[in-house]
Amino acid sequence: MSVELKPCPFCGGISFSYRFKKDNRMVFGVRHEICTIECLGCTASVRQAGSTREKAEENAADIWNRRAET
Ligand SMILES: [Zn+2]
Repeated sequence: MSVELKPCPFCGGISFSYRFKKDNRMVFGVRHEICTIECLGCTASVRQAGSTREKAEENAADIWNRRAET
């Protein structure tokens, strides 16, 4: 895990599952990775794409942490 996640804003959980899959669409000739981060406590989740697994994970973690702040 490259980016640390903030606790879930809905249930306060700190356990998450990471899932990766290949996007069906091609973007500039590259098939992007999609990362889904899901809270194991309440199944809240975020989904983001990226050019690599690492990028997708980073983007998803970023979205998650921004959501956790609000
Ligand atoms: Zn939760």
